[in-house]
Amino acid sequence: MNEAKAPAGMPETMKALVVRGPGDYRLEEIPVPACGGDDVVIKVMASGICGSDIKCWHGSPYIWGGAGRGKYIQEPVVAGHEFFGKVVAVGPAAAKKHGVALGDYVVPEQIVPCGVCRLCRTGAYNICQQHDIFGFIKDRAEGGFAEYARLPIKSRIHKFPEGFDLDVAAYIEPLGCAIHAVERANVQFADVVAVAGLGPVGLGMLQACVLKNPKEVIAIDLQDKRLGLAREYGATVCLNPAKQDVEAEVDRLTDGYGCDVYIHASGNPKGVLQGLRVIRKGGRYVEYSVFSEDVTADWSMIGDGKEIDIIGGHLSPWDCYASAIRFLHDGRMNAARLITHRLPLDQWLDGFKMVEKGSESIKVLLIP
Ligand SMILES: [Zn+2]
Ligand SMILES: [Zn+2]
Repeated sequence: MNEAKAPAGMPETMKALVVRGPGDYRLEEIPVPACGGDDVVIKVMASGICGSDIKCWHGSPYIWGGAGRGKYIQEPVVAGHEFFGKVVAVGPAAAKKHGVALGDYVVPEQIVPCGVCRLCRTGAYNICQQHDIFGFIKDRAEGGFAEYARLPIKSRIHKFPEGFDLDVAAYIEPLGCAIHAVERANVQFADVVAVAGLGPVGLGMLQACVLKNPKEVIAIDLQDKRLGLAREYGATVCLNPAKQDVEAEVDRLTDGYGCDVYIHASGNPKGVLQGLRVIRKGGRYVEYSVFSEDVTADWSMIGDGKEIDIIGGHLSPWDCYASAIRFLHDGRMNAARLITHRLPLDQWLDGFKMVEKGSESIKVLLIP
């Protein structure tokens, strides 16, 4: 957290949700970030709670290290990476680089790419070696569960078009991720595509798949309510593994071949096994989940069994944010039904518990 002076005309301190350790999140009064010549400071309008926030809160080794993994997070840090806001201070170098001015509404991409590592230099900044994601890296990428946030010079900042519906703006981050996953799947007109796991990202993937116009879009989830939404978004087949034999249904639809593409976002190891079963030989499997446990599967299925292309997806590089903004603005994608709850930042714990439970909410926003 930045100790320097707050920009003129703004309060000295602000409320922020600070990660102090696994299970140790505290609403604190901290200094408003200073705006250097390289910075943009925004008044945060809303910040979505992500599944990864819940995993971090619960001390996942993926974030905190252990179980053979290195530690990722650098705490103490203000959490939150799905946020947008209004520009309230901008340094000269930042104004020039980002083309933003006071009063603009903007959304930063969730990663602040280092710009110099081999991955950044070859265009894969979403998998930047340094990998500063907002809300996880002290000082370099403080997050958006706060009244104000500083966007460093290496941020990738998008301005909203005139008249953009700010009520859905916090969904741009998960939707960008969803679009990236679908682009990784390289969906073709003749494909039968399955999307498994209809959380906020999965329901975005589903909408992105529908826009690609494949032969069938199969939605798979354990909650009928979410399958109902998928149907409204254009899924041609909706399957609930608790009630239906997904493998038999997919076989029936594809003359026994299996689906061409399986995109997985459930975070549940069972979804992986299901994917390996329902995908056709030579099919494309896109994994976007973050799991809280290791997955055990029959690995021979990938080579000897089916010659499957296993494709990973992470974050949302290049045009994904711009596409998300465009589709939300022109109405070809919808988020109004996905943002189910808005809570004041003080009620962050209720919000986290709601997302953890997952049965009554889809996307929960905290409003600082
Ligand atoms: Zn997220
Ligand atoms: Zn990099």
